[in-house]
Amino acid sequence: MTVIGVMALQGAFAEHQTALARLGVDTVQLRKAADLTQPLDGIVLPGGESTVMGKLMNDLGMMAPLQKRVRYGLPVLGTCAGLILLADKVDGGPGPWLSTMPIAVRRNAYGRQLGSFSAEAAFTGRQIPMEFIRAPYIEQVGPGTKELATVNGHTVAAEYGNQLAVAFHPELTDDPTVYRHFLAKVDRTV
Ligand code: GLN
Repeated sequence: MTVIGVMALQGAFAEHQTALARLGVDTVQLRKAADLTQPLDGIVLPGGESTVMGKLMNDLGMMAPLQKRVRYGLPVLGTCAGLILLADKVDGGPGPWLSTMPIAVRRNAYGRQLGSFSAEAAFTGRQIPMEFIRAPYIEQVGPGTKELATVNGHTVAAEYGNQLAVAFHPELTDDPTVYRHFLAKVDRTV
């Protein structure tokens, strides 16, 4: 049985749990360092506020153990602020945090006018709806990193081995494509 740990310190974690439940996947909330020692098949880092989440992860002693598990290959899905937590270069604010993924990201990249917007774009060959909320985009990807989606000329999704990062919020639409792509990584390691 697959169990996905959802980082539940702040942000849209409950929505990810609901979306994964719809796909028949069990989740547990991760709130303290001890929660990271249990067997997990994957981890979701939700949207929210990367600065708040990053500081809490540091204060709670969760940063180093999580970093280690991701480096050892635990599949991880980072959405919006979660993408920022994975990036090894962060423009426009504090960071990097976990720094496990070779991508340079820009926080709040669309400015005030475009704080929130919806788009539809191809993700791994399928047109899917995308919800952006004070979103980052990926300015540059490092070697071994694959760009998976582009909106307005900017990269908004990428993967690097076991790590999948999207600038939008798949938990706010009914489309399961991003989760399916993540769960395929999970299946490969279970
Ligand atoms: N602007 C937020 C940050 O910088 C991300 C927004 C989101 O996750 N919806 O962390």
